[in-house]
Amino acid sequence: MKVDWLIVGAGFSGCVIAERIATQLGERVLIVESRDHIGGNAYDYFDENGVLVHKYGPHLFHTNSKKVWEYLSGFTEWTPYYHRVLAVVEGKKVPVPFNLNSINALYPTCHSAKLEEHLLNNYSFGDKIPVLKMIEHANQDIRSLGNYIYRNVFLGYTVKQWDLKPEELDSSVTARVPFSFSRDDRYFKDKYQALPKYGYTNMFKRILKHKDIKVLLNTDYKEVFKEIEYKRMVYTGPIDLFFDYKYGALPYRSLTFDFRFHQEGDYQEAGQVNYPNEFDFTRITEYKKITGQCVKGTTIAIEYPEAYKAGVNEPYYPIPKKENTEIYTLYKQEAQQLKGKVIFAGRLAEYKYYNMDQVVARALHLFETEITPSIDKS
Ligand code: FAD
Ligand code: UDP
Repeated sequence: MKVDWLIVGAGFSGCVIAERIATQLGERVLIVESRDHIGGNAYDYFDENGVLVHKYGPHLFHTNSKKVWEYLSGFTEWTPYYHRVLAVVEGKKVPVPFNLNSINALYPTCHSAKLEEHLLNNYSFGDKIPVLKMIEHANQDIRSLGNYIYRNVFLGYTVKQWDLKPEELDSSVTARVPFSFSRDDRYFKDKYQALPKYGYTNMFKRILKHKDIKVLLNTDYKEVFKEIEYKRMVYTGPIDLFFDYKYGALPYRSLTFDFRFHQEGDYQEAGQVNYPNEFDFTRITEYKKITGQCVKGTTIAIEYPEAYKAGVNEPYYPIPKKENTEIYTLYKQEAQQLKGKVIFAGRLAEYKYYNMDQVVARALHLFETEITPSIDKS
């Protein structure tokens, strides 16, 4: 088979770049995907009870990027959705990111009023403060609030999720869910928050609907790439796998999802409930509360974190940590030797804890900077 581009992986990175190449450059693309579906980890489907579920865990779209929002809006309409999460703390379900409402739910009234005063003296209303910063604060009351949140919301969850304590990870990980000095219970504060109206998979189908884009599912690219004639490659799989683990395997975290259907109307109070302290799982997602689907019964997914083992489970999370970045840098240098013949894009190929919108922004950027200018027009 002869194409201009071979793209490995049909997730956000691969699909967005394929769409740009086909529609903007009129070049032919073959996407090779090892799974039996498109969409990567954002894939969704209707389960046997007719409930729309996300196969690889809850995917909430949120972004501040007008460019990303407008790009994806070309392929889907949206259902506005503001994600709200409760965490079980001392037997009570309180809003996370921890905020003034969480304090009010857990602290005696006079104490919480005093705390608010200390916060007001040190921060502006609406500020977001990472817990690892709070526990180092000069003010003793803020420090002790930080320690309370650290112990009750972050420590147990993070050890389950990463097998590491919060301080052993790059501080950006726990800073994703900072203390919010507000009464705003939304999990994300971004300008655009919504879910694709007909699901992610439907959106991916529309992104890929072009005569010059072909998709080969159920195929590891290593099985076929030697038989395909192509000019350049976009690779969105794990970078260590690409280089046959030359500098050692990069560690990833994986998950097992326990999907359960309940006949009764509702399972829990919010789309997502976190269990930082109790049980071996981290969170339970109730899908219809997220998608807004009107359906009889309800499907939930219980998430159990585990170590990634090649060939056994999926590499869902790169682990942001200095030692791992050092190994990744060796692979990145190796990738640079290929001088653009292969472009590495996305969460696995760049070993970065990207959200969906960041991956789309990155794909658009790579298209504009690495693909368009270098095209041989002769
Ligand atoms: P992927 O989606 O991983 O796609 C890579 C594709 O490459 C995969 O389909 C894989 O099968 C394929 N592939 C790999 N190796 C090979 C090979 N050798 N041959 C052929 N194909 C191969 N982001 C948000 O913005 N909001 C959320 O709420 C959110 N929730 C998440 C929850 C979970 C549990 C996880 C794991 C991620 C979540 N994300 C969320 C992140 C989001 O999934 C990623 O940002 C996005 O899917 C990354 O897209 P990608 O194309 O880079 O990678
Ligand atoms: N986190 C936590 N307790 C919570 C929520 C998050 O300790 O109740 C920490 C944990 O380390 C988690 C990280 O913050 O891995 C990022 O959380 P996020 O919800 O962004 O994780 P994701 O949805 O990407 O799995």
